[in-house]
Amino acid sequence: MVEQNKLTEEINRLRNDKNAIILAHNYQLPEVQDIADYTGDSLGLSRTAAETDAQIIVFCGVHFMAETASIISPEKKVLIPDLGAGCSLSDTIDARQLRDWKKEHPGAVVVSYVNTSAEVKAESDYCCTSSNAVNVVDSIPRNKEILFLPDMFLGAYTAKVTGRKMHIWQGECHVHAGIREQDIRDIRDTHPEADMVIHPECGCTTNFLYHSLESSSHNGSAHTNGSGYSKTNGTGHIKFLSTGGMLKYAKESEKKEFIIATETGMLHRLRKDNPGKTFYPARENAVCKYMKMITLPKVLKSLQEEVFEVKVPAKTALRAKKPIDRMLEITA
Ligand code: SF4
Repeated sequence: MVEQNKLTEEINRLRNDKNAIILAHNYQLPEVQDIADYTGDSLGLSRTAAETDAQIIVFCGVHFMAETASIISPEKKVLIPDLGAGCSLSDTIDARQLRDWKKEHPGAVVVSYVNTSAEVKAESDYCCTSSNAVNVVDSIPRNKEILFLPDMFLGAYTAKVTGRKMHIWQGECHVHAGIREQDIRDIRDTHPEADMVIHPECGCTTNFLYHSLESSSHNGSAHTNGSGYSKTNGTGHIKFLSTGGMLKYAKESEKKEFIIATETGMLHRLRKDNPGKTFYPARENAVCKYMKMITLPKVLKSLQEEVFEVKVPAKTALRAKKPIDRMLEITA
């Protein structure tokens, strides 16, 4: 603890001296979240990176997030404390594969989840996050063909909620895809009163969404509310929400117990913001090894030595900025 206090003190000193801001994703280690100036989901982090006056942004997240911050704020120095912090979902498609896919569907509109490289964003028309994917797709004229990438579960969820037929890239995040329908059934049996909150990237999403929609057509109990999809089945509610949506929902809900189906780093913030409420992970080992690469000693080193800078080549950044700007304009 003494060691951690010393690290925190030194991080705070350098952050002030260098006019730096520390941004952390909701999946970061608890101690990293606790020293951050802002903790949030991809959309919130991108917006904060766009608005900050700080000269240095220390991005405690994964590489594509730091790239996005650098594209939005090219005049700032964007640092990531560990260059190895990648993303298995982002790695499922590269720019060449996307160009080939576009050739098969000339004139189609490309919607890329923010979990993509700068080169893939540069080939895209829109970016989206899990908070605003539905609204981004809704904003595209209905006569347009859509290529949605790279997450197949978020794609299936978005297609179902918007009623749009889309071509969906068959990529997945190994952490979210590992949360299966049976995990959800087991934990719901253990905590039947708890509300169930599912990230739409999860492997269980499609099955649950289909069941919810089928059920709603029979008894009218399911509804969409713009920020997610919910259903009452006599026990807890089931909702599909981004990590930002989960925080809002848990805070505003009168319920006391929640099952959380996403990366387990999310539980730290939920518990911190909601003392008196109980949160259970849908799967204990839903842990992203890339997110957990960022530690306090690495954050300190990043500030001390101003490493590792993430810079996107100007030509790519210029093209990638357009779909990112569109993402930032469309609210969740
Ligand atoms: S949890 Fe999945 S999508 Fe998120 S950074 Fe890790 S690998 Fe990528």
